[in-house]
Amino acid sequence: MEVFQVDSRAIVTQPEKWYQPKLSLVSKLKKLIDESGILEDVQKGDIVAVKTHFGDRGTTKTLRSVYIRAVVEKVIEAGGRPFVTETTGLGMIRPRCTAIGRLEIAEENGYTQQTLKAPIIIADGLLGMDFVEVPIDGKYLKKVFVAKAIAEADAVVFCTHFKLHMQSGIGGSIKNVGVGCVAKPSKFDLHASGYPKILAEKCTKCGKCIKICPTNAIQDYRIIEEKCLRCTGCAEVCKEDAVEINWLLGKEVGDRIVECAKGVSKVAKKMSFLNFILDVTPHCDCHPYSDNSLISDIGILASKDMVSIDKASYDLYLNAQPTSDFLATNRFWQWTAPESMLEFAEELGLGEQRYKLTKIE
Ligand code: SF4
Ligand code: SF4
Repeated sequence: MEVFQVDSRAIVTQPEKWYQPKLSLVSKLKKLIDESGILEDVQKGDIVAVKTHFGDRGTTKTLRSVYIRAVVEKVIEAGGRPFVTETTGLGMIRPRCTAIGRLEIAEENGYTQQTLKAPIIIADGLLGMDFVEVPIDGKYLKKVFVAKAIAEADAVVFCTHFKLHMQSGIGGSIKNVGVGCVAKPSKFDLHASGYPKILAEKCTKCGKCIKICPTNAIQDYRIIEEKCLRCTGCAEVCKEDAVEINWLLGKEVGDRIVECAKGVSKVAKKMSFLNFILDVTPHCDCHPYSDNSLISDIGILASKDMVSIDKASYDLYLNAQPTSDFLATNRFWQWTAPESMLEFAEELGLGEQRYKLTKIE
């Protein structure tokens, strides 16, 4: 599959020619969108979701709003009606776990209707429980709970800050689809197995979990699985550590993310992908801080194939000279398996690892 690249460098050697707006990465991004043709299937009047990540309170290296705005302008130019979107996080009490908190943090981090030139809509609703259920026959998952606004849009453009991730190894387009486009029940299913469980021997019957449960799933201090949407609110409020969750780590999380991406791809229409290999931090943007970049900025990739673009981004990352000694010997978190995630994504038909990289000058 073809992957297009623009370079982030803009070295001008002649002082009299310093004023060159076309060297801006924003200008290059617009050219990349035109030359790659990733928006060619957007038709007049299409409602287009521009999916990105707003970060958490304290995250400082999310994608700058000017890039998202440039994508929005290109969608408008193509005849589409864009909205910028994101989903809530897993949990009920941290700010970014509801649409209200998500929008407040978006504003703090510089994303507003004014800066983006498009409205912001939280795709999985007020509490992260607006979804469509998509059946899949996965190794781990039988159902994916896709954020409703993603399923309803006529097209989705993924603007992904490519960085490392402590669960999936790399946080690229596959992760933006598989994690970023699902509602709370699937966010749980990719991080944990089964259902939360109240441990009778630890429970003091304080009732805090009953109060926060949005589905009235806790009766007689037991969780009724048929009613539980796996938001983890009960575990968050329990001071006694009496709510047990079987959290997962490593390769299985990556595989579950891929299965979620498979579910999303069954209902999301006209998907296109932009990976921004800029500020490649060791952690995901869901962390409330941003560490130093691990490599120098590389540029932006565009493709219609989420696997090709992630494989190309991963290869560019691996071949770059580390600027930080943090991961100089281990290029990703040791317990993660990014290569296996890419292989599994290809196996499930999400795209091809093979790619041809075309540089746009
Ligand atoms: S919050 Fe914890 S201790 Fe309180 S009732 Fe629920 S499980 Fe029991
Ligand atoms: S019982 Fe289920 S739905 Fe209720 S708070 Fe706990 S995880 Fe959320």
